[in-house]
Amino acid sequence: MRVHRVVDLSRPVGPATQPYPGDPAPALAPSSTLDGDGYRSTEVRMGSHSGTHADAPYHFLPDGARLDELPLELFTGPAVVVDATGRPDRSPVTAADLAPWRDRFRPGAVVLVRTGWAAYYGTGRYFDHPYLAGDAARLLVDSGVRTVGVDTLSPDPTPHGGHPAGDWAAHTTVLGAGGTIIENLCRLELLDFPDPWFSAFPLRLDSGDGAPVRAVALHWAAD
Ligand SMILES: [Zn+2]
Repeated sequence: MRVHRVVDLSRPVGPATQPYPGDPAPALAPSSTLDGDGYRSTEVRMGSHSGTHADAPYHFLPDGARLDELPLELFTGPAVVVDATGRPDRSPVTAADLAPWRDRFRPGAVVLVRTGWAAYYGTGRYFDHPYLAGDAARLLVDSGVRTVGVDTLSPDPTPHGGHPAGDWAAHTTVLGAGGTIIENLCRLELLDFPDPWFSAFPLRLDSGDGAPVRAVALHWAAD
């Protein structure tokens, strides 16, 4: 086996990164320069949930596992891409919508919910993404799934433009089961080959609630 292709499913992290409402935009500034020091390095300031990132149970639960307490096995596994495209703004993706993929929901699987909303990244409409209904999150967790990825800012409705926050059902269900959520994925439409393998290892930040990842899908070649 060898890796035939690595598909990047991650957003760049920089001033143009679209933050969650209330979160800071990442800021990069030179801390060393070629002219002054002989080498380049950069000071980075950002929220722990910047760009494509992983949420830990500690993000929502008072005594939830911190990011570095989660087993690294959670961040890699066979991808199951659920097609949830073509939905109205702020509409739910329900357990019934997930039914066609149900046989593939099992421990170790990484379920990626593709709404197509990645196309609106950088615009106001990106906030108006579909969301994972509580019964859908419950179906995943009851099937043993502990890693859920979305091509949106959040699996729950994002409060913005007069729309209130919801009940955080998707976050609390997945994180409450000791799982992780990978947010702001992109290019999920490229996972059109057999058996894509997902990996997204988080930075080992001390904050514990979440950290950026480099999310990729590996396309294995048999030879
Ligand atoms: Zn997050």
